Amino acid sequence: MARAFASGSPFCWICDLTDHQTDEIDGLVDALTALFPDGAVLHEPAFEGAEWAYVKECVDTGWVSTAGSYVSKFESMLAEVTGAQSVSSTVSGTAALHMCLLLAGVKLDEEVIVPTLTFAGTANAVAHCHAVPHLVDINAQDLGIDAVRLDAYLDDITSIRGGTCVNDLTGRPIRAVVCVHVFGHAADLDALVEVCDRHCLTLIEDAAESLGTYYNGIHTGNHGRLAALSFNGNKIVTTGGGGAVMTNDPELGRRARHLTTTAKLPHAWEYDHDQVGYNYRMPNINAALGCAQLERLEGYVERKRELAFSYAKKFANLPGIAVISEPPRSQSNYWLNAIILDQSLAVRREELLRRCHENNVLVRPAWNPMHRLKPFRDCPRMEVSVAEDLCERILNLPSSATLRLSELGD
Ligand SMILES: *Cc1c(COP(=O)(O)O)cnc(C)c1O
Repeated sequence: MARAFASGSPFCWICDLTDHQTDEIDGLVDALTALFPDGAVLHEPAFEGAEWAYVKECVDTGWVSTAGSYVSKFESMLAEVTGAQSVSSTVSGTAALHMCLLLAGVKLDEEVIVPTLTFAGTANAVAHCHAVPHLVDINAQDLGIDAVRLDAYLDDITSIRGGTCVNDLTGRPIRAVVCVHVFGHAADLDALVEVCDRHCLTLIEDAAESLGTYYNGIHTGNHGRLAALSFNGNKIVTTGGGGAVMTNDPELGRRARHLTTTAKLPHAWEYDHDQVGYNYRMPNINAALGCAQLERLEGYVERKRELAFSYAKKFANLPGIAVISEPPRSQSNYWLNAIILDQSLAVRREELLRRCHENNVLVRPAWNPMHRLKPFRDCPRMEVSVAEDLCERILNLPSSATLRLSELGD
C-alpha cells in the first residue's frame, strides 16, 4: 500500500483503491493537471553540470570521434557506478543488445526468449542476428518475465539435446533469454538465473532503463552473463544516443571491445581485421556528455525516487488506480513512474490520455506488446494474458528529474 511504501516498511507493490463515488477519470485528470498547471513532458534530460564544458572541449581540441579520451573515461565511470568488470560503449542501446546476443552465441535461425512487453529495440536486436524472438509473458509484480511460468513452459515445449535447449515445436535451438527491467524496476533475477541454468540458456539483461537500479544490493546488469545499457535522450543518463555492453567475464569483455571497434587488430598503421566487425563504439562528443551526466546520477536517482514517493502519497486516495512501486528485492531508479487503471477504467484510457494532453500533461500508455507489432506478430510465443491485460491499463506519468517537488504541492 502507498502508506507503507512511503514509510519504507514492507508493502504491497500496488495500492488498490476502488471503493469511491466520484468519477475516477475526472479525479485523475484533475489531480494531474493540478500537479502540473503549466503542463509537463513525460521525460526530459537534465543538463545541470559540466555537459557544455566537456563537449566544448571535444570541439576545441578536435577530439570528436571514438578515439577521444572521454570514451574510455565514460567506460571506467560506468564500471565504477555499476561494479561491472568490463564496460564497452556503443552507439545505442540496441547496438549494445545486438552485441550481447552475438557474444552469447546467438546465430541464424535460433530463438531468443524475449518478454512481449518491452520496447521494440529488444526484439529488433534479436532480428538483427537473423534469429527469432520467442515471446513470453510478464508478471504483475515487477512487469518483467514471469520466471515460474517460463520454467513450466520450457519444460513443456523444449528438450535438451547435446547441452542445447531445443524448441520441440520448431526444431530450432533456443540460445538465450533477454530479461527487461521495465521502467527501472528489476526483474525477478534470482529466479531467472535459475531457470536459465536449468534449461541451458544464457541470461542477458536489457538494463536500458535501469541504470541506478539494484537487485539484492547488486547493480542490475551484473546478474546475467551480459547486459545492455542505453543512453538515449529519454533515459536517466543520456549521451544524446548511446549504449554500453556490461559483463563480468573478462574474455567476453575483450571480445565486446573488439567486435564494437570493427574487429581491427591493434597496430599503428596496418588495417588488419580478423572477423566481420561493427562500427559501434561511442564517439567522444557523446561520451563527454555522458561523463558530465554520470557525475550527477546519484542526484537524479534520489530526485526520481522522491518524485515516486510523492506520486504514491498524492494518489493513495484516488479511486480507480494503483501506483506501481518497486518490487521486493529491487531498489529502483524509478526511471518512469507508472499507474495501473482498474479493469473498469481500461476502456476510458484514450479519453484520459486525450484530456491530459489537452492540458499539456503528456502522460503515455505503455508500449504496444511485441506480439501485436507487424514484424513480430508471427513469432512463436506462449500465452501472454498478463501482458495483454496490463498493457491496456498502464499509464506512464511525467518523470523527469527536473520536476520539482514544489510542483507536486508538498
Ligand atoms: C531504450 C530501450 C532500448 C533501446 O535503446 P536505444 O538506445 O534507444 O537503442 C532497449 N530496450 C529497452 C527496454 C529500452 O527502454
